[in-house]
Amino acid sequence: MTAQKMEFKTEVKQLLDLMIHSLYSHKEVFLRELISNASDAIDKARYEALTSSDMLEGEKEWKIKITSDKDAGTLTISDNGIGMTRDEVVEALGTIAHSGTREFLRFLQEKNIKDNPELIGQFGVGFYASFMVADRIIVLTRKAGMVGSKGVKWESEVDGTFTVEEVDKAGKGTDVVLHLKDDDKMYLDEWEIKSVVKKYSDFIEHPVVMEVEKEQDSALEKGKKIKVREEEILNSCKALWLRDKAEITSDEYNEFYHHISHDFGEPLKVIHYRAEGTSEFVALLFIPSQAPFNILYQDYKIGPVLYVKRVQIMEHCENLIPPYLRFIKGVVDSSDLPLNVSREILQNNSQVEIIKKNVTKKVLDLLGEMKKNEYDGYVKFYKEFGRILKEGIHTDFSRRETISDLLLFPSTKTDADSYTTFEMYVMNMKEGQDDIYYISGVSREEVMKSPHLEAFRDKEYEVLFMLDEIDDLIFGGFEYKGKKLKSVLRGDIHLDKTSRDEEEKKFGKLVDFIKDHLKDDVKDVRLSGRLKDSACCLVSDEGDLDPKMEKFLKSMGQEVPAGKRILEINPDHSLFEAMNRLFEKEGGSALLGEYAGLLYDQALVMDGARPKDPVAFSRSMSKLMASALKD
Ligand code: ADP
Repeated sequence: MTAQKMEFKTEVKQLLDLMIHSLYSHKEVFLRELISNASDAIDKARYEALTSSDMLEGEKEWKIKITSDKDAGTLTISDNGIGMTRDEVVEALGTIAHSGTREFLRFLQEKNIKDNPELIGQFGVGFYASFMVADRIIVLTRKAGMVGSKGVKWESEVDGTFTVEEVDKAGKGTDVVLHLKDDDKMYLDEWEIKSVVKKYSDFIEHPVVMEVEKEQDSALEKGKKIKVREEEILNSCKALWLRDKAEITSDEYNEFYHHISHDFGEPLKVIHYRAEGTSEFVALLFIPSQAPFNILYQDYKIGPVLYVKRVQIMEHCENLIPPYLRFIKGVVDSSDLPLNVSREILQNNSQVEIIKKNVTKKVLDLLGEMKKNEYDGYVKFYKEFGRILKEGIHTDFSRRETISDLLLFPSTKTDADSYTTFEMYVMNMKEGQDDIYYISGVSREEVMKSPHLEAFRDKEYEVLFMLDEIDDLIFGGFEYKGKKLKSVLRGDIHLDKTSRDEEEKKFGKLVDFIKDHLKDDVKDVRLSGRLKDSACCLVSDEGDLDPKMEKFLKSMGQEVPAGKRILEINPDHSLFEAMNRLFEKEGGSALLGEYAGLLYDQALVMDGARPKDPVAFSRSMSKLMASALKD
């Protein structure tokens, strides 16, 4: 059969373009990526072989072999792992399997990859990294367990296309043959290969071997040395997490972190411990320094790698960690789980539950310690992951209090870029203040200007700023140590607790008139207990969604009933004295109706919304200005 020519998907072309044309300072990572793929392929085969020994094809030794051919200018990385079928090769090496990669590409382009070479390597860029050093790549592969069937040859020459054809391949697994560019021929040197493997792949648990030339005593002639070629293992193969903590350098931890996270940065924290007792396992976990760009996406893969007695079972075991700690990367190696454990078993397994509890506690304890002893580092963590951690308030009832004590908030009493906590808030509460107040919004600048804060400022009550879109959902109904959380944007607020009977009486009829005039737009009109300087504002009813949450849910595609809001007016504002006079003189005139409409529009504008009818609004404003400037 002849080779079939196919085109890369557009996004792969873009990616390849980036690979080929950007100056990249750590080109050698291509080898790490290929070794990592080979190691994954062996893990998969070994896992399959647990239930189907056909997979082994009689082989006893898993290994990754590097072959350098200086004459041909090729470097070959071979594994005896799972291999690929024709369809799998086309899919795996012709497209970018991971969704979200388009965004990633855009992100790379925006950030100018030349200045951020460390970004290459995230997200399926793995295999394609080889195009940094090779101008022709051949992949020969045959699926394990299919002895006698044909293998596949995949080939590409950096021209946006690749070919696939059936070929004979005796052994299972994959060979990746790189025809190195002239400038990159140094990767054929034995010394260079050894040092790159040692640097990036030392902890890979399968042996990475290479044939090297060695001198040996001749068996025939005494005293004579002869040259022989023999395989040498280049890496130490010892699973890093099983080694003694005291002997592991931070470089080794970092490299391992790069390998499992595809993140080139250094981890912010390493958690490495062995649990004994009800459950025996080793955990090596990392808190990254930076949130991966896709952590908020649906398809973000949660959970550490699960090993059972050093055999990799699953790449992301989401049962081992609660979703609000999904930033954690790492490895859990259990001695108690059965080797043939399946996803279904994992879901209801008491051992897994114990590990999850233990890991969760460990991480939360560490965060608590950081907050106490390394506050600056904690703030750095919080800026990246606070938004995720917070979800725990809503989802992990048993640890609500612990999590709530880890939260940081800007507030009306903190400087820009500094924070308070629930604990400090409660300590600083004013006499007569019963509740914890917060305002939700997009930015500090925006919420600081909100008229809803006026009375709080006047009474010197602190108001927390909740700037994440999920805050309102999370903190609705939450109590911190018996103190209720209340949004200043919602419900009736009376900080003064004095009666407003007199004002109600005085303005009652005017309020009724405005209410009637705006009945299609607002749920109610009432005198405000939260305004000092502004004339009016819009608030949500107790129990209703606040507008930000409404917008957020809509953006997530959820149906949200269009809730009407409440217009609050400030009885102390001179405008109402004036309006009331007019009302008493003329009753509900057309002019007063126009003013009522203007009040509502103003309140909308203060909320960052558009007036109901911008043209009518502007006409009314101009008319008013003209009459004010008349003489
Ligand atoms: P990633 O490893 O992040 O999935 P890559 O681009 O490196 O992304 O590889 C894409 C896919 O190609 C892998 O997910 C795997 O399915 C397949 N693949 C790559 N190398 C091998 C190999 N040596 N053996 C089997 N499959 C492989």
